[in-house]
Amino acid sequence: MTHDEIRERFLSFFEKRGHAIIPSASLVTTDQPGQTNNTLFNTAGMQPLISYLMGEPHPEGNRLASSQKCLRTVDIDDVGDNTHLTFFEMLGNWSLGDYFKDDAIKWSYEFLTSVEEGLGLDPKRLYVTVFAGKDDIPRDMEAVEIWESLGVPEHRIYFRDSKDNWWTAGENSPAGPSTEMFYDMTGELGDMDQAGFEAADERQDVVEIWNDVFMSYRQEGGSVVGELPQKNVDTGSGLERVTVAVQGKRNIYETTIFSGLIEYIKENSTNYNEKESRIVADHLKSSVFLISDGVFPSNTDRGYILRRLIRRLIMSGRKISFFGEYDDLIEMIIDSYINVYKNLDKLKSSEIFENEKIKFEKAIENGVRELQKISKKENFVLTGEIVSVLEQSYGLPVDVALFISDELKLEKSSDFQKEYESYQKDHQEKSKAGAEQKFKGGLAGDSEIEIKYHTATHMLNQALREVLGNHVMQKGSNITPERLRFDFTHGEKLTDEEKKRVEDLVNEKIEEDLIVEKTEMTIDQARESGALGVFGDKYEDVVSVYQIGKDDEVFSKEICGGPHVESTGKMGIFRIKKEEASSAGVRRIKAVLE
Ligand code: ATP
Ligand code: MG
Repeated sequence: MTHDEIRERFLSFFEKRGHAIIPSASLVTTDQPGQTNNTLFNTAGMQPLISYLMGEPHPEGNRLASSQKCLRTVDIDDVGDNTHLTFFEMLGNWSLGDYFKDDAIKWSYEFLTSVEEGLGLDPKRLYVTVFAGKDDIPRDMEAVEIWESLGVPEHRIYFRDSKDNWWTAGENSPAGPSTEMFYDMTGELGDMDQAGFEAADERQDVVEIWNDVFMSYRQEGGSVVGELPQKNVDTGSGLERVTVAVQGKRNIYETTIFSGLIEYIKENSTNYNEKESRIVADHLKSSVFLISDGVFPSNTDRGYILRRLIRRLIMSGRKISFFGEYDDLIEMIIDSYINVYKNLDKLKSSEIFENEKIKFEKAIENGVRELQKISKKENFVLTGEIVSVLEQSYGLPVDVALFISDELKLEKSSDFQKEYESYQKDHQEKSKAGAEQKFKGGLAGDSEIEIKYHTATHMLNQALREVLGNHVMQKGSNITPERLRFDFTHGEKLTDEEKKRVEDLVNEKIEEDLIVEKTEMTIDQARESGALGVFGDKYEDVVSVYQIGKDDEVFSKEICGGPHVESTGKMGIFRIKKEEASSAGVRRIKAVLE
């Protein structure tokens, strides 16, 4: 059975049992009003459904199932083992106040073991864990009884505590016990006591393949304060891991999901190594999915994760002397998923990946040159201090510097890590002091023309969104008394007509002499009011929002420290002087007020 068939079987199994099949949400999370979203990407199937699990009725009903794209950067260092990927698909079924433990467990078991409708896995290779209980919450004997009624013997049911079998999304959230299913990937384990099971889990001989959560309690300040009025079921099963079990393999990379990629990498590298080749395959797949979901490489937030994935995979590719075409791999990835994820974009993936690769290879070359130069000294040893300085003055990240030093076979000091950390700490303290000083004297020193450019920057941002679309996001901005510079996400060069429309719109708003008003509010209020800005944890709790135009004339609303003009009337005439690429997927405009 291929992974495509497994996905289909899962969805139709639950469709037959009254579930509406919902499409996968984007990997990129969306901020929902009134809800602070602190992850950059969807990391589980339940994540796009949080508001429904909290009680909001779902338009498709109270039984749902999906296969959700997930990205987990917390697992990045585990990639290369048998079971952890950064990108994976999570199969899941949900009950929103409808069925509960009985049906949930029964269906999980049936889907895993039924030959006709499910996966036909061997029940003799299945083990389950249930919640051991804590404080006032009893151990989950109900789940034990249901498992036993299905034929899972008592000695294959293990109790685990809240680290593994208690689910919650934070201090104030629904919570509840879970039961997890494990599969013997070796086929040789048989009966085990709990210690034997834990050891097998440690060795990855048994692998967690499914997790059923029973959301039954309300938690406040980290403790359970009562039961939920609506009890939900939330399940998650990794498609890739289940495929390992179904196809009788020992790891994810031997399944139909990865075997083609791994084979290609193997045939096209002269220094093949399993772990590095797995990193190449996994990270490249994540990158393709991220790019297709609209992420561009950059130095902040999501873009930075993408950049790191691309850089890591290129380093791994160099380590195994990969001489194939990354583009072939991208094509293979897209071909194998396009039937399910129709937004996968070959052109964009190739182009953005290639640009980023070229850029990174240049950075490596510079790093190589620099390290070669300084390592010519006799008895040279690479210290944490040297790498720290290279990072601060050339922007050469420490992992890349170490990678280059390995390529150049340089000697590394034995206390490297300690030295590096202590230099980092010193530097941070110094730059903090610098920032404070700048802040004291800083903004007050802004000249009148610079203040005008601040306001013009907001107007340009809004005009670009109106002319090009709401995908336009500020990526950077810089103001001197001579000009403003503005970097923003957009895939292609602006046409002359687009530039003209942007200019005209800004000039129209200057002419309307709109009032500029500053209001202080909380980040949540700012977000709800539709203000632009980065809703990360960078901002203090209370922020200033600058609004250009009043009532039904509001043109722009943005979180900003200021300062700004009081009204737009006397700013001059706005002209775009230059429009060029800044980095992959990011354009740069330089503009003046004449
Ligand atoms: P583990 O402890 O093995 O890392 P987990 O407890 O983090 O797994 P859950 O959060 O319960 O996993 O996610 C539900 C399911 O998603 C798991 O049963 C597994 O099948 C799958 N899964 C989780 N993390 C990954 C990953 N990094 N790569 C592939 N599949 C995963
Ligand atoms: Mg788990």
